[in-house]
Amino acid sequence: MKDTFVGESKDSRHFSKLKGSLARLEADVKDEGDLKLPSAEAFFTYYSTKEGVKQAKSLQQRFRTLVWKRRDAALRAVAEAEGKMAKARLHAQRQRGVSYVITTVPTSSDQELSDDDVEINTRMALGLPPHPQMPVHCSCGQANGSYAADAWHAMSCRDELHSSVTDRHDGVKHAVARLATAVGAKVVVEPRKKERRDRKENKKRPDTVEELPGRKWWTDETILHPYNPTNVSVSAENPQTLLKSAEQVKHIKYDEEASYAGATFVPIALESTGGFGTEALLFIKELIKESKKQHMVWHDKEYVNMVYRNIAIAVARGNTRIVKSNLAKTEQELQLGRRRRA
Ligand SMILES: [Zn+2]
Repeated sequence: MKDTFVGESKDSRHFSKLKGSLARLEADVKDEGDLKLPSAEAFFTYYSTKEGVKQAKSLQQRFRTLVWKRRDAALRAVAEAEGKMAKARLHAQRQRGVSYVITTVPTSSDQELSDDDVEINTRMALGLPPHPQMPVHCSCGQANGSYAADAWHAMSCRDELHSSVTDRHDGVKHAVARLATAVGAKVVVEPRKKERRDRKENKKRPDTVEELPGRKWWTDETILHPYNPTNVSVSAENPQTLLKSAEQVKHIKYDEEASYAGATFVPIALESTGGFGTEALLFIKELIKESKKQHMVWHDKEYVNMVYRNIAIAVARGNTRIVKSNLAKTEQELQLGRRRRA
């Protein structure tokens, strides 16, 4: 590499191009602290030394950080100008776990996404309505059922709560159970057995109990929609608040009973847009670590890494079902109305 410019005249086109580029780079990062690049003449000699290569790497890192910082500032400025929903969307799309759905290469049927899954979840990420032509009002007839006011009303529609919303919740619950099983834990989904015998009635049952020798967890899932009109302000204000408060609510509900049963309670709080709550991520990490320590993992690392992504995929698939179920109900209602009028 150091011989690149050997025999090149000092005023050649190559030299002047390199000089120009170096000057531009120095000027471009000026506001972020001084950058001293070697001269064009010394450039290739310098970057072919060991020290030079090291410097080049840190330089690359510095530029990458800078590019991200600027891109982030530009996005934030746009969101700030557009309002709460845009800010909520920006925050939701920055959550940890959001990329799992699009970056998981399907290796099993649990991870396949249909065209509808991709379409609906991408439209959600982009801030578009679920469908290009939405009906006027949801068949639920509720005051919050106007699709013009909330295109993703399906996510909070009263009529979906005990059907498609429960299906999505169950999909996530089973994905968590499969993950725990994959790492060798004993798993009981929705334990029916009363954990507390001194009470006639015990309604506080978690979704799942996971157990490794000497360790026991209770987990319970909850999925929040950050674009829901009642959540938008919170999500726009702080990306963590929605998930954190949902985790807190679950703790209040289950902590005492869980500790009575000798378990640690872990809320698995997720956002419909793909974000994972801190406690969910920590739990996955701890579960894998603990089972490795106990040599319980019989699947390889790649398998376990793929399985935990199933949780994100279960959310995405569930979203599709909620939207489709809601639009189908509304369409049915519209047709009924037409027939009645005819
Ligand atoms: Zn509705």
